[in-house]
Amino acid sequence: MTATPPATTTDSGAPAESDEHSLTVGPGGPILLHDAYLIEQMAQFNRERIPERQPHAKGSGAFGHFEVTHDVSAYTKAAVFQPGTRTDLLVRFSTVAGERGSPDTWRDPRGFAVKFYTSEGNYDMVGNDTPVFFVKDPMKFQHFIRSQKRRADNNLRDHDMQWDFWTLSPESAHQVAWLMGDRGIPRTWRHMNGYSSHTYMWINAEGQKFWVKYHFKTDQGIECFTQHEADQMAAADTDYHMRDLFEHIRDGEYPSWTLYMQIMPYEEAADYRFNPFDLTKVWPHGDHPLIPVGRMTLDRNPTDNHAEIEQAAFQPNNLVPGIGPSPDRMLLARLFSYADAHRHRIGANYQQLPTNAPVVDVHSYSKDGAMAYRKTTDPVYAPNSKGGPAADTEHHGTPPSWEADGALMRTAYVSHPEDDDWSQPGTLVREVMDDAARDRLVDNVVGHLLNGVTEPVLERAFEYWTNIDEKIGARIAQGVRAKADEKDPKAAEQGSPARRTMQEKA
Ligand code: NDP
Repeated sequence: MTATPPATTTDSGAPAESDEHSLTVGPGGPILLHDAYLIEQMAQFNRERIPERQPHAKGSGAFGHFEVTHDVSAYTKAAVFQPGTRTDLLVRFSTVAGERGSPDTWRDPRGFAVKFYTSEGNYDMVGNDTPVFFVKDPMKFQHFIRSQKRRADNNLRDHDMQWDFWTLSPESAHQVAWLMGDRGIPRTWRHMNGYSSHTYMWINAEGQKFWVKYHFKTDQGIECFTQHEADQMAAADTDYHMRDLFEHIRDGEYPSWTLYMQIMPYEEAADYRFNPFDLTKVWPHGDHPLIPVGRMTLDRNPTDNHAEIEQAAFQPNNLVPGIGPSPDRMLLARLFSYADAHRHRIGANYQQLPTNAPVVDVHSYSKDGAMAYRKTTDPVYAPNSKGGPAADTEHHGTPPSWEADGALMRTAYVSHPEDDDWSQPGTLVREVMDDAARDRLVDNVVGHLLNGVTEPVLERAFEYWTNIDEKIGARIAQGVRAKADEKDPKAAEQGSPARRTMQEKA
């Protein structure tokens, strides 16, 4: 027997008179301004959307937990990574450039954001499914994202501006080589890795410092879509990745990832062969092998995607004792920009929402603001002699730190012998990809360039790929020139079967 559903109420909890009929003067008369329930429904509806994220607008996520399986206490004192600890968490996956309704299977890096609800406050890792990024200085980030989004005049995405930016930014080569390869379109969110990409600092109980990178390796195995499969899926199911995650968790097939760390002794950074804080570089596994830490499992779907996922606010400045930032300029800028985006998008008190609130008590001096929910108590200032919270400087008074000195300037990072932009993407295409993967890479780049890239950007794109690898560069140039007369190869390819059918019918 189905339980009787509850009676509808207004938002103030009073019984609603009807779910179907507005209040009118007689059956054919006008509707009335004092139909408060109708007004409430219309007004609330007008305010249902909040600004979408800029970027990473399209995504979804799930709740789960992290279990520490290996002892890494020699490297960090963070409670979340102590042996045997189990911590609840929230993960959100996303594409980068697409808007909220865009296809899940567009070629793009994927966001991989984790919020650990730890016993020392929230710890967020806002990573991606790639270990590197397109730029290394935050001054270029806004321009990079604009080049991936839409033009001013026709509001279309534009490969010409994408390649214009990339070819004028050689530091993008590693991420672009990755993106144009197989990993540029994961088959599902369950079948991709997550990386911190940034270098962070870990500090152990003795105060010893280490530089670290996080690798969440999928336990489902890596699986990718070819461009053709992804195009077909974009047409068949725009929300394929979102659906896949939700349905697997609903059916009890919980995805998991094993967390490994790369760990560099603090002193090694100064003389490492390239700048270890450069976000466009990986640390080769041969130099810093992966050390296992634990397993992350996702086992609970949201019940209200807006409240729990759309309003989820991940921010890399949510750090806990034992974990700190590094001199990576992109990371340092993100420590500000993420929280700033949430204040704009959700509101000043976004951290009080249940999905963002820590599991520990909050004793901050923040107060008031729109939608303040947590009650403030006196005293409202510090220092005070009225029993208000006081910072525990004896235990937490030393911030994670490194040495920095010099005049103020705008310049590239201090140089290391192997800082060049081309070696690591060259290694990727020559030593990591096999022949079949290289063939797909060339096809993907040729297809991308034929889709609206014009001179002089096109010639620069050939040089860019030649710098990565001479043979690949030559193949790409040849592939583009061979098809250069096709004005719109994608439309021609998609149109031909239909044209054939029409001709056959005629
Ligand atoms: P390794 O041979 O030890 O590592 C190569 C790694 O490449 C693999 O472990 C795998 O990373 C990843 N990989 C495999 N296929 C692809 C693909 N089609 N596209 C992108 N990545 C792939 O060599 P090194 O550590 O010396 O690195 C060599 C190159 O490998 C780097 O220049 C970089 O481009 C790439 N790479 C390196 C990573 C690192 O952190 N060292 C991580 C990922 C890629 P995974 O096991 O994480 O899936």
